Parts: sequence; C-alpha cells; structure tokens
Amino acid sequence: MICRFCGKELKHLFIDLGESPLANSLLAANQLDVKEEFLPLKLFICDNCFLVQQVEEKDPKQIFKSDYAYFSSYSSSWLEHASNYVNLITEKLELDSDSFVVEIASNDGYLLQYFLDKQIPVLGIEPAENVAEAAKSKGINTLVQFFDASLAETMIDEGKHADLIVCNNVLAHVPAINDFVHGLKKLLKQDGVVTLEFPYLVDLIEQNQFDTIYHEHYSYFSFFSVKQIIEKQGLRIFDVEKLKTHGGSLRLFLCHTEDDSRPDVPGPAQLLKEELEIGINKLDFYSGFDKKVEKVRSSLKDFLLKQSEQGNLVAAYGAAAKGNTLLNYCGINDKLIAFVADASPHKQNKFLPGSHIPVVDESQIKKDKPTYVVILPWNIKEEITQQLEYIREWGGKFVIPVPELEII
Ligand SMILES: [Zn+2]
Repeated sequence: MICRFCGKELKHLFIDLGESPLANSLLAANQLDVKEEFLPLKLFICDNCFLVQQVEEKDPKQIFKSDYAYFSSYSSSWLEHASNYVNLITEKLELDSDSFVVEIASNDGYLLQYFLDKQIPVLGIEPAENVAEAAKSKGINTLVQFFDASLAETMIDEGKHADLIVCNNVLAHVPAINDFVHGLKKLLKQDGVVTLEFPYLVDLIEQNQFDTIYHEHYSYFSFFSVKQIIEKQGLRIFDVEKLKTHGGSLRLFLCHTEDDSRPDVPGPAQLLKEELEIGINKLDFYSGFDKKVEKVRSSLKDFLLKQSEQGNLVAAYGAAAKGNTLLNYCGINDKLIAFVADASPHKQNKFLPGSHIPVVDESQIKKDKPTYVVILPWNIKEEITQQLEYIREWGGKFVIPVPELEII
C-alpha cells in the first residue's frame, strides 16, 4: 500500500465504509438474482503529502465501461454551471475561432456545446462509449479514450496544442495522477491555461459528505495536496476559486511554471494559509470523521425503520452515485425505500446496485403520494425541492440525510 502521489507507505486509515458494489452499476431486472461483486470502500491518508486516497484499485476500464450510466446533461443546475463557466473563461482568455479547447472527461458534451455555440473549436476526450456517442450526436468532436501522457504525446505529434484544457471532476477519477498531470503539461500551449474542478476535501470533512466517497473516486484533494501534485509536473496554480458545486469544490487555474504572463493573485497563498491554520498537514485534522459518519447512519436507519413500522410510504429522488454509498453503508433496501425517481431515462426501469431499489419515472411520486421523499443528491436539494413542491398537497415532506438528518 503506497501513496499514488509520493510513493510513501500508507499507514493511516481515514474512513472504512464497508463493502459495496460499484456505484454506477445499475442492474436490469434479469440481473437481480445474480450475485453482485461487493468491493471494500476504504480511504487512507498519506502522512507525507496528506493525500486522502483509496487503495483498493479497480480497473478504470471496469468502471467507465461502454454502458456507463452517468449523463451530465440531466441536471439543469449543472448545465447552468457549465454555461456560466464558458462565458467567464471565454472572456478571461479572449478565446475565439482560432483557439483550441480540450475537455477531458467531456461526458455527453454538456459543457463543450456552449463553446461550439461561440464557434470556438473543441475536442472532447471521453472513455465511456455510450456517453461519448451522445456528445457526437450534438456535433462535438470526441475521442473515445482515457487521457494520459501518451495520448497527449500523440496529440502534439498531430500538431494539437490546447489554449484551454478543462478538467471538471476527473482528477479524482484517475489512478495514475502523476502521469495524468504530466499529460496536461505536454498538451498545453506555451501561454495556455488549464482549469481543474474537484470536490474539496475540507468541505467533505467539515460537512460530513462521506457519501461522495465511492470506488470511482481514487483521490480526495485539499489545496495543500493538489498543489504538490501540480507543481511536481512543472505547472503553477495562478488563481483559485471556491465553488458551491458538489457540496463545495475548488476551481484551479494553472499555467506553465515558466509562464510569467500570468502573475499570481493573493487567492492561492491565502487558501494555503487557511488550510495550514486548520492543521491540513497534521493527522489530527483527519481523525474523528468516522464517528460523525456513524451518526448519520444510525439516525437515517432509525427514521426509516420507524416509518416502516407506522406504514408510511417512503420514496427517494435522484439515483446519483452518492446515493448508493449512503444506502449501502446504512444497509437500506427496497423494504425501507420503495422506489427512487430519476429524470434520466438511462436509469429508469433499472435497480440500484446493492440495495435493489427500483428506479422509476417521476410520475410514480404523483401516483403513489409518498409521505416522505429522501433527497439523495443533497447538493442539488434546492432544485429538487422546487421541482417536487407538489408533494405538499398531500402533506408530503422531504428528508435530507447529510450532513445530518433534516426533515423539511
Ligand atoms: Zn503521499
């Protein structure tokens, strides 16, 4: 067990969430009797670079396979986030029809479509074939491949250097992070910019967001840990923003270390100082998380058992990956939550891995009128409570399980 960044032996457990199936492996009805593969979900902290990480490596090819179920375009708030970003960065970097934008893990083209609207040339890189097909059908040029340093090499041999490389929620999904960041360095034009977004470890710890831990996420970054990974490959963080997405994320702006056209602003140094003040480079900061997580489990499980005894119907909304970590860790099945509604037709008529809760269309909520609707993707709870406001007509209430059980 060695650290994927610095190579030092991993000796300290951060959290053990037991065993669960891969979070995005939804089951068809004829797969329900087949024994599922349960894999340990356990994170360690490196006492040298303080990168929080998974040791049990799953082959990414097994996870991001041809029928991967996550399509970015089914969340309206995520689309809005992407569109705002494209406007901001186009202006900031003065991108135009002579520029070249590459997005890694471009999914169904949820983001690149907004660059195309501005006539800015784009290339998506997306390993999941069915998701990449959706992007291609929108006219987005997409390579169906995993990004690494060797792909970057091939691209520059073909004369492709990027003015902008967008990496939203992909760094955490990459086992070989040093090779990946090295690839970014190679592909980036001399005065180009990389933006990286990822869920922020400090928010994960402080807001108790243990359900954002799943097998697809190999690493969990603080600014302190990610800075070391980036600088080692000859890139520099010249700006940073805190975002509200995914319960709290960071957006980093990177350039080549030697690019002096982009002076540092105070943000990065300030954030590093804040992190050092809370003890980001001390093991103490990471201890005690397991106790907070156990409390979420017992309060949610007790609540659901009580509703079951009283004969109240409980449903859920949002078949997101984080829901599966929560349900499987808490030992919740289709006896406690009757069904989960989701807008994505790619998920409907399937069953959640492990818990076997059926995924249905939203119309089921209107039909069955559940007393409680558990919101699994709590990061978009405002969007969901507005959308399902009609459950108030029959006295329905929402249940938000994280950071602590809340009924609204
Ligand atoms: Zn390390």
